[in-house]
Amino acid sequence: MDYYMLFEKLLRMATSMEEVEQFSVDSIAEALDEICALMRVSKVVIYFYENAKMELVGSGDELVCYDTGEPGMEVDSKRLVSEAMTVAVCKIYQPFNAKRWTDEERDRVDLILKTMLVFASRKKLKKIADRLTFYDSDGYQNTRFFIRTTQLMDINGELGGKATIQYNLRHFALVNQQIGRNAGDFIMRRFSDGLERILADKGILCRMGSDNFIVLCDMEVLNRVLQYLEGRNIEQDTIDGESIRITTTAGVYILPENFEYRDPGDIFDRLLAAARLAKGSGLEKVIFYSDDMEKKREKITEVQRLFREAIHNQEFQVYYQPKVDVNGSFLSGAEALCRWFHEGKLIAPDEFIPILEQGSEICTLDFYMLDHVCRDIRRWLDMGKEVVTVSVNLSRKHMMEPELVEHIIAILDKHKIPHKYVEIELTETTTDIEFRDIRRVVGGLQQAGIRTSVDDFGTGYSSLNLIREIPWDVLKVDKCFLPTEEDKDNSPENVMFKSVVNLAKDLGLECVVEGVETEAQLQALKDNNCDQAQGFFFDRPMPVEKFEERLSHKDYAE
Ligand code: C2E
Ligand code: CA
Ligand code: CA
Repeated sequence: MDYYMLFEKLLRMATSMEEVEQFSVDSIAEALDEICALMRVSKVVIYFYENAKMELVGSGDELVCYDTGEPGMEVDSKRLVSEAMTVAVCKIYQPFNAKRWTDEERDRVDLILKTMLVFASRKKLKKIADRLTFYDSDGYQNTRFFIRTTQLMDINGELGGKATIQYNLRHFALVNQQIGRNAGDFIMRRFSDGLERILADKGILCRMGSDNFIVLCDMEVLNRVLQYLEGRNIEQDTIDGESIRITTTAGVYILPENFEYRDPGDIFDRLLAAARLAKGSGLEKVIFYSDDMEKKREKITEVQRLFREAIHNQEFQVYYQPKVDVNGSFLSGAEALCRWFHEGKLIAPDEFIPILEQGSEICTLDFYMLDHVCRDIRRWLDMGKEVVTVSVNLSRKHMMEPELVEHIIAILDKHKIPHKYVEIELTETTTDIEFRDIRRVVGGLQQAGIRTSVDDFGTGYSSLNLIREIPWDVLKVDKCFLPTEEDKDNSPENVMFKSVVNLAKDLGLECVVEGVETEAQLQALKDNNCDQAQGFFFDRPMPVEKFEERLSHKDYAE
């Protein structure tokens, strides 16, 4: 190839943006190699700086375009400032003993240098533009990257049959709060890296913003990805290498084989609907988009729509589940649990409480329950029955209410109920902010002589210190800690149960164990000095009339 042809090729490559995309650096290098040899050049270097300031401090990228390895001297250089204020500098060297250029040759070299610079700048600018367009400020691929990838795959007919996942890191605000933002970023990065290793070349991971991510992958890795998203211990970047458990909620949408892709909404609408449901429901951590899901969505709106009227029509009833003194085998208390009777059908709390908890309706229901419990207690007292303490569940949604304690006391006082007959169940706290509120509420209730209990102890996310610093009366151990028939004395389950119960005792709290279903489990409670048992072994939650009979016959040993 003669010089002019080479030069023309180089010039063409360098001057149009499309060509920049098409031509590989290799082909440029090849053309350059030949030109350099012709012009007796020993080395060509391009320095690239994102701005003039970076150039001043010498912080940039160095690209050696050509190098024979022969020692030489700088014979020419060019500097180019782009419209985006990036700076590119090209330097050219000749061997010490090489024949110097003629004027005509120097002009040509000048031209080549300029072209090279334009080319390099464009290539680099494109990279920067790509980075700004397709990556966020923390270096994660972003939603635009996701959309572009799906569009490219669609063009190539590769999109149908792929899986998409949108997931959210649970309690991540709390993680940031506990270990600091930087350490939080590090944990997030590590968690993402782990997922990217599973995806490898079978999928992509992008961040939508804050702790929300989105994945596009082949079906063959989907299970492994979902398994990973269930939860992982991520080691912190500290010497002791303490680890933090990261779990997620996720929505999944499998694109049908004949997926029709008109715009990104075709994916996002369904995917985000599934993800929202997973995050809000509190029941399932992974939800697949399906027609069934549409039905669930309808159910949510249905519950929200029916609620006001249901309260007005008194469709909610209090069921009482006895608590039994472990050693004496007599009725020692009860928990009030909500049942909804709608058009002759019974709806279980799991089907509506999590939905009501998404809004403020749960507060209305809880006060309704408390009011009805107080009404019942009043009636029992008036009937001359020997009343036991009844615990009422209070959703965490109440914690923002400044007048909560006063409101509770007012309901008790309205029915003239001695405060010792009512206990309030609250679940563990998750953040410091809530911690302050819960301490205020529990402290206020204690002063008013109203007992409080930590519900579902051990299933939440709280530190022991938080439990210790609040004046609780009772710790309710969740049923998931109860050993089953098969568990031997020193099985991990038994050891775990023992230590949870001991912990309650060490903190000086009464210990109630929920979900006792068998004689053997009851024995485990006795062996570990638990105070009260609640569970199907004694009684299921029952309507008020049946519970009144219990109040008259408290002895279970009979
Ligand atoms: P929870 O507070 O942990 O209530 C205990 C649940 O365990 C009850 O389910 C009860 O029926 C069940 N249970 C009791 N003994 C056994 C047993 O031996 N085996 C098994 N497998 N389960 C047992 P339920 O009544 O369906 O209530 C579910 C959840 O709904 C409650 O869990 C509570 O979180 C919520 N809930 C119920 N009523 C109210 C309410 O009035 N207000 C609020 N905020 N939440 C409520
Ligand atoms: Ca409870
Ligand atoms: Ca519970």
